[in-house]
Amino acid sequence: MRSIVRPLLCILALALAAGIGMAPADAAGPSLVGSGDSYFPEDGNGGIDVQAYKIADTYDFARGELSGHTTLTVRATQPLTAFDLDLLLPVSAVAIDGAAVAFERPDAHELRIIPSSTIARGRTFRVAVTYDGFPGTVCWDKECDWLADQHEVTTMNEPHMAAWWFPANDTPADAATMDISVTVPAAMKVIANGRQVSRTVAGALATTRWKARNPMAPYLAFFTAGDYTEAKGTRHGLPWLVAVSDQLPAATRASSMRLMKKTPAITAWLSRQLGKYPFETVGGVTTSLDPDFALENQTRPTYPVLRLERTTTVVHELAHQWFGDSVRLSQWRDVWLNEGFATFMEWYWTEKHGGPPAEEHLLDDHAQLSGSFWHTRVDAPGPAHLWDTPVYERGAMTLQALRTKVGDKTFWRILRGWAHVRAGRTATTAQFERYAAKVSHQDLGGFFSAWLDTPSRPAMTAANGLAPIG
Ligand SMILES: [Zn+2]
Repeated sequence: MRSIVRPLLCILALALAAGIGMAPADAAGPSLVGSGDSYFPEDGNGGIDVQAYKIADTYDFARGELSGHTTLTVRATQPLTAFDLDLLLPVSAVAIDGAAVAFERPDAHELRIIPSSTIARGRTFRVAVTYDGFPGTVCWDKECDWLADQHEVTTMNEPHMAAWWFPANDTPADAATMDISVTVPAAMKVIANGRQVSRTVAGALATTRWKARNPMAPYLAFFTAGDYTEAKGTRHGLPWLVAVSDQLPAATRASSMRLMKKTPAITAWLSRQLGKYPFETVGGVTTSLDPDFALENQTRPTYPVLRLERTTTVVHELAHQWFGDSVRLSQWRDVWLNEGFATFMEWYWTEKHGGPPAEEHLLDDHAQLSGSFWHTRVDAPGPAHLWDTPVYERGAMTLQALRTKVGDKTFWRILRGWAHVRAGRTATTAQFERYAAKVSHQDLGGFFSAWLDTPSRPAMTAANGLAPIG
């Protein structure tokens, strides 16, 4: 995530489908609904691996209506008599490789597609979905994620966002390239992930197309449309583009742009700590809408209005480009691998820019935080507590305690190595624990157990990284 800015410590089924309705998954394969996330059982879908999304959406601000046509390039990971996608808008047509096929809606979240004949395992095919609806009226599993007013729309949320604006295999475990075209009034700008490749005006409307060539998790795909002022450049060969909403008051626009323009320098600093920046471009967008949090959309985080001194929030979202975006979750329960790491990089930035050392932050937190803070299991916070303070703060404490325990040099070998060896792949807490043990040549089982899976305050011991060693 999403770093919480305020108080941080922050259908319509085709009638002909009816008979085939409950087409079962291949008897030997996984179920159609869900990809096995223990917290969000309907997230993702069995039997498919999406390679690419080509999204073409039109948004009508006056009506709050989104109409779209998305083509997914999909590889079958099992023989498919049917498969699901995740989408919360009504669907009018589905085609596979250009031929219309049957579909149905088992529930508001699942779009079940029934090919005219079984798709063989290993085959790659294109599925095109046409949809139209009012995303601002849609809530799912207590999330009402559409963020828009009459002048601006910004798709940013976590753990879910895609299903409000395109059909997806909505799990961070399945990353794919994104090609995003959005049509809105021609006076507006559209900004999305990656690089803008075209803008075509047709009468009163304009279609702006963005492409991101590095695969991304569906929730990290975004677009914003509205009146924006942009700034762009290149630093160390890396193109950057930032933007601030013109809906904001002039003074706020100016300070927001100053903050956004710190993006290339912060990215360069993070690259020195963590290794090469993982993507083709970088940036940031300040929206006038009020999401109450910032989000690490791949290549281009989105921010609410922040005070100029909130540089650490920019550090946090950019650190996520390594931890969360490049190194992805396979299960949401491991979200501390994103949030603890991004929060630790805030602490380290502060240490290197005139603030207190991260070690002091760790010891102060350990002494001062009390009560329920220590009751959260960081490696399994529960689906309702993914964004609670302990996931961020105790997650960061875990890393600083590891730094104290194994020493600065070994610690940075672990962090940099982790970002490198897992780049573009999924990761779990158990994999991180094994990696840290391997690099440090230490048995870290007791250490990680005390910090991550014990619902109480770790004892003040050197073994827990809470006393200087050597
Ligand atoms: Zn975050």
